[in-house]
Amino acid sequence: MLVGGEYMFLPSAWPYMGWFAKLMALIAVVLPYIFLYLSCYSDPGYITPETHAYYMSLYPYDHALFHPGRYCETCKLLKPARSKHCSICKRCIAKADHHCVFINLCVGYGNHHWFLSLLLSTAVLTSYGGFLGLSILFGVTKERFPGWSIWPPAGYGLNKYLIAWSWAMQRDINLGATTLLAALTSPLVWALLAYTLYHVYCGTTTNESLKWSEMAEDMADGYAFTRPIKRGRHRDFRIEPSCSRWPVEPEMAVIATEDGEPPLVQQGMPPLAGDGDWQRVWKLKNVENMYDLGFKDNLTDIFVREYAFGKLREELPFKSRRLD
Ligand SMILES: [Zn+2]
Ligand SMILES: [Zn+2]
Repeated sequence: MLVGGEYMFLPSAWPYMGWFAKLMALIAVVLPYIFLYLSCYSDPGYITPETHAYYMSLYPYDHALFHPGRYCETCKLLKPARSKHCSICKRCIAKADHHCVFINLCVGYGNHHWFLSLLLSTAVLTSYGGFLGLSILFGVTKERFPGWSIWPPAGYGLNKYLIAWSWAMQRDINLGATTLLAALTSPLVWALLAYTLYHVYCGTTTNESLKWSEMAEDMADGYAFTRPIKRGRHRDFRIEPSCSRWPVEPEMAVIATEDGEPPLVQQGMPPLAGDGDWQRVWKLKNVENMYDLGFKDNLTDIFVREYAFGKLREELPFKSRRLD
């Protein structure tokens, strides 16, 4: 659509554009292709025996959506926190967001920033194309129909207003059609960007927001339980390595059960974290999402690899955390 649209739009619009508009158009046209290429051809965060230890150290388990000691049946590897096995990519993906049909690849830890850049640049391109096309159409239509304006149509009569429009569209079908296409698709792209940024604001991935909504249903049914996790608890570092860059630790374990009864120790599964009796939890607002550190930090964590939240890596309390 982009290639076809640009092929139709640019030759028609070019003679009407000043040098600044031409420069902006070139930048706006090129950027989505660059970000599309980077989104498609970067490693989204494939978890392999080689990269497993690295991805295990990136995010701590929240003991709500992600519990330590769970294996991926297919990859035969411990599932790192925030990861998900993708059946299309046939691999586990670190900080999996979703499998995107547009880039035919998963969006994950390795390419989330390129995916956001792709959405933003495409949103800007479609807006700019729509705006530019409309202003050119407006200019030529006004020459033919003096006193006409795109909005409001007042003083011209609806009939004549539409006649002027159809004249403008027919005068240059390529320009008219692509302008309309850009103006109509632009809100969709902005909506997709807004939806993605809303997840960033909430500190979740698309995958996690689905898990949270399932959890909310289990809570409403009385099937979800919680208990506090003490600081300095005993921790099995073989299944739960320390994630020294993450500034907060889980404070409560949350789990939904199949039968609505408090969770029991399961054979062959590591014990659930936390101390004391399990309490029913009814509302999502009563549990913490420890991956949400505020919009700015959530966004920076996407764009800066191994972001240490304002601390230098050397300053991180590796030793004290390990002694916990
Ligand atoms: Zn897997
Ligand atoms: Zn995938």
